[in-house]
Amino acid sequence: MKLLENKNVIITGASRGIGKGIAEIFAQHGANIAFTYASSEAPALELEKKLLGMGVKAKAYKSNAANFQEAQHLVAEVSKDFDSIDVLINNAGITKDNLLMRISEDDFDKVIEVNLKSVFNMTKAVQRTMLKQRQGSIINMSSVVGVKGNAGQTNYAASKAGIIGFSKSVALELGSRNIRCNSIAPGFIETEMTDALNEDTVQSWRDAIPLKRGGTPEDVANACVFLASDLSAYVTGQTLNVDGGMLT
Ligand code: NAP
Repeated sequence: MKLLENKNVIITGASRGIGKGIAEIFAQHGANIAFTYASSEAPALELEKKLLGMGVKAKAYKSNAANFQEAQHLVAEVSKDFDSIDVLINNAGITKDNLLMRISEDDFDKVIEVNLKSVFNMTKAVQRTMLKQRQGSIINMSSVVGVKGNAGQTNYAASKAGIIGFSKSVALELGSRNIRCNSIAPGFIETEMTDALNEDTVQSWRDAIPLKRGGTPEDVANACVFLASDLSAYVTGQTLNVDGGMLT
């Protein structure tokens, strides 16, 4: 069953990892995909080609989600290239981990700008289009770290907790126009990035998860399919933990 047939979707940061997984699963469900990347041009163009081969409309855009003007420009371009914007997935994110004692002001600001301000930039940019359409679904990528906190990640935890408060407020403001806004809080998701980590360390993380495995980009993507599709038509302002039971 194709749950997203003909829906036009913007995904930020889809050149790799979770964003790429979302783009692929969404295309399988019939969605047209506009996606961004910060600098990985070759993988982005490769993904664009793959999605086009799946029979949907797809386009890669180089755009810094942390920059307000670039976000406005991006949404204007996507509106020209695709007819409507039905779903926005704010997925782009970075980490710059350090203990509070050592973290620099620049590393705090950077993580807040890329992870949290980007969500404001993009949501504000699509708001007018979704208001006119009188429908839309916005999905913001938080983290279990935003729900629980984590030593060595004050900047990241603050950005991800901020996303949850922002999303609930958008849900309250825009609910009357049939625009829904929810957050997803992934736990430990295994991507190319985590492949580089020490296998014993990674195995100890897996052992501590009730479902006894790390998550995959597809696990997060499937939760996004639910929140993007009409299956979740009566769900807004929520945070869905996709963490194998980690926070339970
Ligand atoms: P990733 O593999 O590092 O990929 C990050 C993506 O974001 C890349 O496509 C990157 O583009 C893009 N990006 C980075 N800065 C950007 C910017 N300023 N503007 C536009 N795009 C930008 O990360 P991931 O593990 O897939 O994580 C994706 C999201 O899930 C993040 O928000 C992360 O915080 C969240 N999350 C991840 C996990 C996990 O275990 N992996 C757990 C909880 C939450 P380039 O390739 O061009 O740099």
